[in-house]
Amino acid sequence: MTLKFHNTLSGEIDEFKPQTPGKALIYTCGPTVYDYATIGNLASYIYWDTLVRVLMANNYQVVRVMNITDVGHLTSDADEGEDKLEKGAKRDGKNAWEIASFYTKAFISDINQLNFIQPQYLAKASDYIPDQLNLIRKLKEKGYTYQIDDGIYFDTSKFPTYADFAHLDLDAQKAGARVEFNPEKRNHSDFALWKFTPTGTKRDMEWEAPSDLLDSGTQKVMGFPGWHLECSAISMAILGETLDIHTGGIDHIPVHHTNEIAQSEAANGVKFCNYWLHNEFLKVNGTKISKSLGNYFTLSDLVKKGFSPLDFRMFVLQGNYRNEGNFTFEGLQAAKNRLLNWRNIAALRHQTHDTIKSDADTNQDEKTVSLYATPQALIEALNDDLGTPEGLKIIDDAFSTLLSKKLASINQAALIQLLQTIDDVLGLKLLETTPDIDDETKQFIIQRNTFRDLKQWDKADEIRNQLLDRGIVLRDSQNETIWEYSNKVSD
Ligand SMILES: [Zn+2]
Repeated sequence: MTLKFHNTLSGEIDEFKPQTPGKALIYTCGPTVYDYATIGNLASYIYWDTLVRVLMANNYQVVRVMNITDVGHLTSDADEGEDKLEKGAKRDGKNAWEIASFYTKAFISDINQLNFIQPQYLAKASDYIPDQLNLIRKLKEKGYTYQIDDGIYFDTSKFPTYADFAHLDLDAQKAGARVEFNPEKRNHSDFALWKFTPTGTKRDMEWEAPSDLLDSGTQKVMGFPGWHLECSAISMAILGETLDIHTGGIDHIPVHHTNEIAQSEAANGVKFCNYWLHNEFLKVNGTKISKSLGNYFTLSDLVKKGFSPLDFRMFVLQGNYRNEGNFTFEGLQAAKNRLLNWRNIAALRHQTHDTIKSDADTNQDEKTVSLYATPQALIEALNDDLGTPEGLKIIDDAFSTLLSKKLASINQAALIQLLQTIDDVLGLKLLETTPDIDDETKQFIIQRNTFRDLKQWDKADEIRNQLLDRGIVLRDSQNETIWEYSNKVSD
């Protein structure tokens, strides 16, 4: 099977060819832990979790790193403004270390609730300060750095292909430059590798810059890494000099990822990454997610409104990662309904006969033709640049075919195999969230059907209502009764 992705580096859909056959080295830019993740942040991570699942379905061994930015991410991309962590600390009346620890735990709780395959490495920027300093040292030795009043900078004019990745027009950028840029910077696009703590201030997170990194004659000074540096240093430390896949939001292309490429390739002299995957934004009610607009929803906001994290996962998978998404509660409700329908199909496995028949043994008329082929078709759809909407459509089609069949014609083994594949690649926990009903409930259904056969409608309805209290509804079709979950099943 061929696996293809849209690669920002080439601008085309490229066939995935890892450096080592059967192995994929992935780096994902992780959260800045100064606040709860928004549903927009989480949507992008849902796509990258799906990417990991798809690689695994293609028998790749995935080694994945996600960083946790707990220091150095300033409120402006231009190396100006406050450190987001220090700002969050002031807001919450805690110090930056406490803020980082609190929101890192909140993030991990979110991704567990969303059923992520956790990256093998969740690497905190503050745990990799020596690696970041070493990277600066390497760049300094090769002549890529210079020091000004507020820090050590990367000289982008020394890296001739700087503008290529994002197709930047550096002259136009220079012309439109805002006044707050440090005028000591040699080029508009130069970025901070290390920022000095301003004189007279004490940061919660700061480290002493080693003297060999500083211009001679510089006094002892505390400081902290520039935001871009951590991703290069962490990925090199864990995954080596060249990555197979790097993922992130499209907003990272012109600055953050451009800078990662420049500093990594300048330091190592080899290509930093072969495949760059970027997701589009999720908007809320057609507008950009922002605190001031009051649409800054978190996962727990959705849960408070009666939706499960997996409802949200379904919502996100309905869109393609390269298209802008639009979150509405109506859309989330539709996703919730779709997931409930899928769970009710999953529950059919408890109601089919145990006999395992292959398609060949099944009577041609009753055969659920597509069931065996569906897992393969699903994976092929996802292999085509993470085609989740197409994958979901394939599942819907297979499921609606099932609904038109009598229970006896549903091949239980093939159904279970399909459900397992869906869970593997989409992470929706269909098997785990659809337990069989207990024996007492089964007895109720038998009694109810007996009353119904005897045309004792009152008694039959009474039992139907009792079942409803247990979260079970009955659907009578083609002379048989199928039980379904009425609405809420726990995740
Ligand atoms: Zn990054």
